[in-house]
Amino acid sequence: MFSPMDLMEEFHSVLGFILGVAGGTALPYSPFKTFFFIGWFYLCLYSVQRSDNSPLIRDKYRYSSNIAALFIGPLHLVALFITDIVRKIQDGDLELSEVPKYTLDSILERSVQRRKRSVAVPEIELRDTSGRSFSDIYTSQDRSGTDGLKVQQRTEQMLLQGIKSRATDILIDPRKESEYSIRYRVDGFLRTHEVLESKRCNAVINSLKAVAGMDIAEKRRPQDGAFMARLPEGDVYFRMATSGVLGGEKLAIRVMDQTCQLRGLAEVGFSPEKIKTLKRIMQQPQGMILVCGPTGSGKTTSMYAMLQTINFEERNVITVEDPIEHVIPHISQIEVNTKADVTFANSLRSILRQDPDVICVGEIRDSETAQMAMQAAQTGHLVLATLHASSNVGTLVRLMDLKVKPLLIASALSVVISQRLIRCLCDYCKGPAELTQSQLDYCVKNDVDQKQILRANGCGHCGGTGFYGRTAIVDVMYLDDRIRGLLSNNKLAPGDLKKQGDRTFLSVLRREGMNHVKTGKTTLKEIKRITMEAG
Ligand SMILES: [Zn+2]
Repeated sequence: MFSPMDLMEEFHSVLGFILGVAGGTALPYSPFKTFFFIGWFYLCLYSVQRSDNSPLIRDKYRYSSNIAALFIGPLHLVALFITDIVRKIQDGDLELSEVPKYTLDSILERSVQRRKRSVAVPEIELRDTSGRSFSDIYTSQDRSGTDGLKVQQRTEQMLLQGIKSRATDILIDPRKESEYSIRYRVDGFLRTHEVLESKRCNAVINSLKAVAGMDIAEKRRPQDGAFMARLPEGDVYFRMATSGVLGGEKLAIRVMDQTCQLRGLAEVGFSPEKIKTLKRIMQQPQGMILVCGPTGSGKTTSMYAMLQTINFEERNVITVEDPIEHVIPHISQIEVNTKADVTFANSLRSILRQDPDVICVGEIRDSETAQMAMQAAQTGHLVLATLHASSNVGTLVRLMDLKVKPLLIASALSVVISQRLIRCLCDYCKGPAELTQSQLDYCVKNDVDQKQILRANGCGHCGGTGFYGRTAIVDVMYLDDRIRGLLSNNKLAPGDLKKQGDRTFLSVLRREGMNHVKTGKTTLKEIKRITMEAG
């Protein structure tokens, strides 16, 4: 089977021959002419190579584009470049006045990159969990005749782009007939990275399944796997799950970037007073700190931030997580593996025999884990855990749902932290917002400087979203004697309690959110979104 590139090469040798004959015999000989023909011929070849790899060309037009590149050579390169600029201007990533600078930059940058490439270490190197290299695994598994090296490059670039865009998840799904979409989740929102023709995407999927240690031939049953990538900055781990869906296979890849610095409590969004009190509680020998919120609300990040305030030399810390998102030196981390019967509850039972000072439970999901963690917190262990609940008071209700006795909650629980994440405006493109009359009135009434209120615009730095990074809004509840009294006397009616708690949390979200709007950190719309979700 000929691939387009092979065909192209065949074409070239024939064309080269014809040109050679024409240049050498039909026309009168001149060294300049021969030089021109050879130069043009190589530029044509280079154009075909660029056309074949250009993300600007949709897959179904690629073959025709390659043919065009072969005949018009450098003119094709110029056309590609102009298309790129027009698209950037349309997307608002580039202003007309910036075009000359952009042109110069891209020419210079390309020549610098080419010089670097000859000596540079590879930008990304895929390996399986045992450290075998991608090329070893993939060539031994895939015998379908596709160009292995090209598939490897495409897969690696797709992952590298994901890491560079700070993606936490990469999703590959069949979109419609003969097309797959590759999407990144950045700051909690999905954005389409690329649309690939099924044939090309299947090769990428197979290569990923091979490196994640899955069965390539199995396309329907769900499979789980893991792999890693070595980058100059450090290692990045990936967890992958596949399942057969209508129209093909769906892949979900979780990115666990070890090169990202763990964030401290202040960076997460805790105020200095809250940090002070939390640190005091973290010094206590026993008790429980629960971090609550829905999926994707940054619970784990907050838990890691709290863990870092502990002196690991003096205290024995053990965690049980699903999955381990960050490797922390000097502490013992256990990863849940249901297939090997390593569950939260089982792990917790074995941890308790090892006399730890601090126990960290990735997530309390079932009644057994909840009760065991609570009991541990009551018997000389500091326990940190996360729980899926809507608000601080909602957490108490959720614990009772998990059959933890109110009396046990009253004696074991020290602090409940509820949180949500809001997106921060991108520093490169934020600009003044146009306010409605009611918003202007609000500003006057509350003594807010309306010039401080900004809106999201979108630029190349933030992928056109206008936002870059997130910060947490936290509501901290310390269990004082009053709440403990109510709990131990069983005077709390769960139904009303949850509603009331959610309302209180909503007002905290609004208040703290508005403080971020006033300082130009986020937009009014973002606060509205987050409070709508919470309410
Ligand atoms: Zn921006």
